Formats: sequence, structure tokens, C-alpha cells
Amino acid sequence: MVTQMRSARLHEPGKPLRIDRVERPQPRPSDVLVEVRACGVIPNMNAIFSGTLWNHLPPLPASVGLDAAGIVAEVGENVAGVATGERVYVNPWLSCGECAYCRRGDPMLCTCAAFQGYFGFFPQSHRALATYPFGGFSEYITASPDRLVILPDGVTFDQGARFGYMGTSFAALRAGKVGGGSSIAINGITGTLGAGATLLALAMGATCVLGLGRNREVMARLKTLAPERIHTLALGEGPIADWMRAHTDGLGVDVLIDCSGRAAAAATTAQALHGLKRGGIAINIGALTETLAIEPIRFMTARLAFRGSNWFTTGEGQLMADMAGAGVLDLSPLTVQAYPLERINDALEAVKARPGGLVNIVVHPHQ
Ligand SMILES: [Zn+2]
Repeated sequence: MVTQMRSARLHEPGKPLRIDRVERPQPRPSDVLVEVRACGVIPNMNAIFSGTLWNHLPPLPASVGLDAAGIVAEVGENVAGVATGERVYVNPWLSCGECAYCRRGDPMLCTCAAFQGYFGFFPQSHRALATYPFGGFSEYITASPDRLVILPDGVTFDQGARFGYMGTSFAALRAGKVGGGSSIAINGITGTLGAGATLLALAMGATCVLGLGRNREVMARLKTLAPERIHTLALGEGPIADWMRAHTDGLGVDVLIDCSGRAAAAATTAQALHGLKRGGIAINIGALTETLAIEPIRFMTARLAFRGSNWFTTGEGQLMADMAGAGVLDLSPLTVQAYPLERINDALEAVKARPGGLVNIVVHPHQ
């Protein structure tokens, strides 16, 4: 007897998703089956599903959904380290294990990389997407056990469904070696990446968190999380670099995390770069497309760095989960807006209004 399940599928780019009845997948011997309890909805999703960006959508109709958290329902016969009943977040990052980058131990640079349930980075990503064809807006998905982040008891499925963008911010903060006493600035602090970076920076010991953004209401809310450590500036309210230096004894910040969205102005990032301390580093995790003007000589004389960071490893996801489980990382400021699977398109509509990074929009596939 074939067991069926419900899955939200993209049939045509730019059109609403449809809830289809499909065959419930069987895990391969080396995989697990996860019963999805929550899957995150993120601002970029409508743009990706429009099919108009550079990303390579899976063959349509495609089961979609990026950030799934749930319970291990079945394990393949070759899986020994994960048991049924385990509460997990599934890192959707798929790498091939065979390309030059994977073989040297850097799957984050994989030339076949893809996001399960979302898109491929390259035309040759189709094989990975075909191996794991179910996205988190489904009642069940399969995954390889090396991509599972074990969720501690204190971390809810809804919080786990936020780990994708949280993890992206976490990897960037780690790349900047943020720790006790660090001063950081976050350009785009009110968005999903920026709010996540704020919670993580506080947990990692940053003593000064400077936030640049537009949404004054969300900035005021963020400030209440640690009024002595967090300071915000609404864009247009004053010269950015001067303000950054004023809060750091004239030195500037150790790390700038840039979360600017696709349509943001590169001039804001350029100004924030002038607020970096000598030896500082700027890390871009946003999708800013406008050309950024920099003065290379300044980067030489002040020993500055500018780099990009994309997503995070499952190991980093586990560190983050453990920090949350131990109470070091406080996820309680995140509020949840949950939708049953039938209302997936309403959830995608709700995220367009950009309610701010402290609101966690999730879908519950079993409701
Ligand atoms: Zn690879």
C-alpha cells in the first residue's frame, strides 16, 4: 500500500503553491525520514519562486520549503548514530562530496551546491536536488544524517525553523571572530538576518552592537534587549561612520555585518566601511547587487578586510542549538506567526510585508 502525504509544490514560477497529495518518501538506506513540525518562511522566498533570479529552480512541479524542523520518523538500515524520535533541524545545504572543494573538506564551496526544497546554485546542482526532492512545506522529508542538528529540549520546532538565517548570521560572526568585548555594527539590523545577528552577538559576548536600519519600531524593540550594549541609528539620521566612532571611543567597530537586501543602496555600506576599526573586517551576508565603491589603499593601510559568507555548516548549526539549549543564546524575543499547510500562500503573502526580523513566520505541515 502506498502511503501518501501532503506537500506544497511550485507548478509554475510566480504562481501560488499548490497543496498536492504525493507518495510519502521512503528513506534510502543511508538516510532518515523526518516528520516536519515547522518550516520557516523567509522574505526572499517569493523572489526565488518567481523564477526570475539567477537561481536554478528544481524541475517543476517541485516540492518546496527550506528550513524544516521536526522528528526523525524512520532511519535507513545503514544509519547508526540517529534514532527515531530525535528532535532535529534539517540543514538544507546539499554538497556533492566529489568536487575539488568537497574533496579538500570545504563543502560550503561545493560547485554543485543546492538548497533542498529551494534551488540550486549551479546548473549541475540538479543531481543533489533530485536525490533529496522534498521541501519542508511537506509532512515528511528525507535527509542525510550528517545534515541533522539535534535540537535540545528547550528549543522549539518553531525556533528550529529559524535556524537557516540565524546560522547564516552565526557563521559570519564567527568569521569575524566575535567574542567577549567585541564591537560590531549590523547594517540592516531590523531584518531577518540582522535581528538574528543581534541575538547571537549578545550571546557571543559582544559589548557594543550598533544597528543601522529603517524600521524605527523594530530598532526600538531590539534596543530593549540590552539597552547598555545596543545602539541604533535610523538611516538618514546622521553621518554613519561618525556615529559608529562616537560609540567606540573614536576607534570604530571590530566587525561590520552587512545584511543589505538586493535593492539597498551600496552607499550605506560604503559609509559603514569607514566606521571600521583598523584591522577590522566587514562580512557581507546580504544580497546587495549595486556596485560598491571602496578605496583599496585604505584597506591596505588600515589592514581592513571585506569578505562574503554564505550559509553555515551543520556543525555551526549544532553549536548554535547547544547555545540556545544552555540558555546562552536567548531565542525568546522571536515571536511566532504560524500557518497550517493549507495556508502556505497566505504565509508567503505575510512575509512580503516584511514584519521585521523578530517575527518568525512558520508553516506547520501537520495542521
Ligand atoms: Zn562538491
